[in-house]
Amino acid sequence: MFGKQQQKEPFPREELPPHEGPSLDAGPYAPEGFDKRPQKLGVVNYPHPALRAENKLVTEFDGRLKQLVFNLFETMYAVGDGIGLAAPQVGVNLRLMVYNPQLSDKTQETVFVNPKIVAFSSSKDRKEEFCMSFPRMSGTVERPIWIEVEAVDWTGTPFSRRIEGFEARLFQHEYDHLDGIVFPDRMTANGKLKVQGSLNFLVSDYKRNYDMEPAL
Ligand code: ZN
Repeated sequence: MFGKQQQKEPFPREELPPHEGPSLDAGPYAPEGFDKRPQKLGVVNYPHPALRAENKLVTEFDGRLKQLVFNLFETMYAVGDGIGLAAPQVGVNLRLMVYNPQLSDKTQETVFVNPKIVAFSSSKDRKEEFCMSFPRMSGTVERPIWIEVEAVDWTGTPFSRRIEGFEARLFQHEYDHLDGIVFPDRMTANGKLKVQGSLNFLVSDYKRNYDMEPAL
């Protein structure tokens, strides 16, 4: 079932007609109409609870999902330096993530729905990472250097891929978001100490903007 390799076809970006009726079931933090029309969505910053909430498997593969994927890319490009985005980062608690390491080349747009890591290397490396939900902050994270992944595409068609190097790191960072894990969780105690000031700033910023309890 998962033998098929992903085709390197670009995500079909033609605009869809606006969709009426209910949105995909994406939890309590999903913004109104997130999958109904083309739009840039708002990225939530740590410690917004959407980043820690459970992400449901995608079960409906229709125009709403395609519109959501389109909107995730639009949101990612709008922020400028973002190369990957997971649905919970826009408050949509579904197991869906996108990335494009070559921002200038839209044929490199990559979409994973309901992904699973089925194998990974025992060898790891340590590199600096950034996250759109942690503005103006970076930190070093250790991760396996290759992974094998099973997922479905935006039409529900299964595929599997082996991913190496920088893309493997990018995949794992976005995949963590689907499990409610954010990159400071993976830093060493010493590394986390270095970013503590930035984390404290994000927490006070959150408390100024929201009445909801922060999810640290
Ligand atoms: Zn991130």
